[in-house]
Order: sequence, then structure tokens, then C-alpha cells
Amino acid sequence: MQDLIIKKIYIDKEVRNKRLTKVILGRFPGIPAETFNAPSPIYNDLVEKHVDPFLEGKKVLVLSGFKGDFLKKCPGTKGFICCNYYVLNLTTNCPLDCTYCILQEYLKNNPVLKIYVNVKDALKQVEKIYRENKNALIRIGTGELTDSLALDHITGFSEILIPFFEEKKNLFLELKTKTNRIENLLKYRGINNTIIAWSLNPQSIINEEEFYSASLKERLEAASQCQQQGFKTAFHFDPIVLYKGWEKDYKALIKKLFHHISPENIPWISLGGLRYRPSMKPIVKTRFPTNKLMTGELLPCEDGKARYFRPQRKKMYELIIGWLRKYDKNLNLYFCMEDQDMWRELFSGLPDYKNMENELFYRV
Ligand code: SF4
Repeated sequence: MQDLIIKKIYIDKEVRNKRLTKVILGRFPGIPAETFNAPSPIYNDLVEKHVDPFLEGKKVLVLSGFKGDFLKKCPGTKGFICCNYYVLNLTTNCPLDCTYCILQEYLKNNPVLKIYVNVKDALKQVEKIYRENKNALIRIGTGELTDSLALDHITGFSEILIPFFEEKKNLFLELKTKTNRIENLLKYRGINNTIIAWSLNPQSIINEEEFYSASLKERLEAASQCQQQGFKTAFHFDPIVLYKGWEKDYKALIKKLFHHISPENIPWISLGGLRYRPSMKPIVKTRFPTNKLMTGELLPCEDGKARYFRPQRKKMYELIIGWLRKYDKNLNLYFCMEDQDMWRELFSGLPDYKNMENELFYRV
């Protein structure tokens, strides 16, 4: 795995003396650091001075505080089934660079790596939802606006979150990653309610679409190490990409997965086909001019996002589900942002995310 190099650090004056600010700065000896008063001029500079401000922004670290809601319900998407997931955003932007990443659009006016150092405020919000929902099982992930582990060697967030969640048995923390950055996780053993999750794709897709991420082999080896430490490991086949020969590659990927991982230690696996908003197309074309990901036949759906033609999607899911179930027919599979009919046709019913007591979804 190749890291992007941080070139400069900006520190919001308000968090200059926070403990975590000092810890993070201590991890970058020799890198220029500048304190600023909000609102910061950094974003305009990046947009004006660089051909690819989004990539350049990933080399600029901003340490600041956040006064809003760290914890939110995953917004889901209109007309498609949502899995009732909460997102905890302690960082915005990501040091990896996936061609299909929605952040390219979402953060286009704010393309820096921003770490919120007032973690205690975030924990208070989690504590509140815990107190209010003691009888519900709630899944909370940190990988919506970043990769959950890509900066963990700098922030140490996993070392704050894992012990905090451990005391709250009805909460599940999901750390979702495309890295093999598990150093901090290996300090723990037998943690039941932090799930380490990897997004998986064949190596050819990783090479073409997931820059600065870990190879498939590195991801699976890291997952295997985490299992040996007693962690449950989840997997996300997302985005599934169709191309000539995809069947052979995904089948081989699944074989490799179960070579490294025991199915009984997998609480869930999600499946989601490639999807994107039409407004993403020009951004990807500008940043990756030779990229072919969005040149296939994808059609706009009810939520405005382009997806593969429905019969193609159905066949794709059918095959992948079959290959997965061959290793364990009881695997807990779900779709990410698929329509109700797809659920009925392939999973014989809709998920009951709201009624967690039946443990239909959370088999941990
Ligand atoms: S790992 Fe996730 S957040 Fe990071 S660039 Fe890729 S898609 Fe975006």
C-alpha cells in the first residue's frame, strides 16, 4: 500500500491546545504547520492553484473542531432499501483515491483531509443514542466520509472508539476500510461489538479504480489477522463492476476470501452494484481522462443514480450470492441501495431492520 504524503498541516486556532492536536502534530516532525483563524483561506488556494485540487487537498491536513452532529442516520437513497445504519463522521475526505468516490463531488469546494479533534463531543452524541435506545441493536460506522482506518495510525481513533463501544453491548461499531492499517487493532482481543469490514474487488479493479489502497492480498491477510485476534470481519462487495470476464474474477475473489476467512466469523456481507450520480461523470472524466468505469451502459434509476440495467444487475447478484452461499448457505447477506423487488426476488422478502430483536440481520 502506497501512502499519499502530507505536505502541510493547518490548525484551527480554537483547537491548537487540544491533546489530540498535539499528538497528531507530533506524528509529523518537519512538516510545515500553520495556525489559522476560521474561516480558512486554504480551500480557495487549492482550487485556484492546482489542476487537480481534490488530489492536492488529500495532501493537506486540517485539524479543527466540529460543532454540529457527528452522528447521523445514513441518508440512504429515494426508492431503495436502506439498512438503518448510523454514520459517525470524525474525519472528512480520504487519503485513498477511488475513481468512483462520491466525495469528489461532495467535497469539491472543501477538498482537504480534515480531522475533528474534539472527539469527546462525538462520544457524547453516541452516549446519548445509547441511553435512548438500550433495547435496540444499532450499527454505527465511521466510513462514510473517509476510509475508517486509512488515518488510524495518525489519529488513533480506533483506540478511543473500541473501548468506548465495548461497554455498550447493543451498539456495533463498524470500521470499514480498503487498507491493511490494522496495527492499532492488534492490541485488542475478543472484542465482540467492533466489526472490521473490508470492501473487496478483484485486483484488476483495485489497480484501475482504487488508488493508494491495499492490494486484495493485503486486505485479506489483514482480515485474517483480525479474525485471529477475535474480531468479527464483514465484507462489502461494493461497488460490483461489470466488465468482460468479471464472472471469473469475482468467483476467484470469493474463493480467496474463504481461503483466508472462516464464514462463521462473518456477521454480514453487503452487495452493491456500481452506481453514480450523472453529475459525477464530468468530474471523473477530468480527473481520470482514460478511465472507462462510467462509459458502460448504466441507466438512471428512481433516485437519479445511474445503475446497470436491471436484468444485468439481477444476474450479477444471483451469481455472486450463489458463489458465496456455496461456502456457507447461512451467510448473512444484504443489498446496499437496491430496490424492493430485487430483495423479494433474490432474498425472498424484505429486511426487517427496524425489528432487531429477531436478529434477522445481526448475527454476531
Ligand atoms: S476509500 Fe472510500 S472514501 Fe476513500 S476514496 Fe475510496 S471510496 Fe472514497
